[in-house]
Amino acid sequence: MRLKKDDKVMVIAGKDRGKTGKVKRVLHEKNRVVVEKLNLVKRHTRPGMDQTQGGIIEKEASIHRSNVMLYCEKCSKPVRVGVRQLKDNSKARYCKKCEELFDK
Ligand SMILES: [Zn+2]
Repeated sequence: MRLKKDDKVMVIAGKDRGKTGKVKRVLHEKNRVVVEKLNLVKRHTRPGMDQTQGGIIEKEASIHRSNVMLYCEKCSKPVRVGVRQLKDNSKARYCKKCEELFDK
């Protein structure tokens, strides 16, 4: 998986298509990501010990990684990403369009 926490991504499928957000969590085993304030689902909560009253809260549901793409600030659009080796042998992801590095 080429996505990491804090990456800016754009949703390319589903009801939030075209929206951008920051990756909050990466679920590697499931190939899914949780993006801040996107793909919100309503959860009903019941009155309980720690809450005085129940209600509806909105929570982010995970999105399959094939439904999001890394967003390039320079190109102002979602882009394909390549990986290249740097001089110090570390690997960095880059935008295949403008060659901008995502990992600096
Ligand atoms: Zn770019």
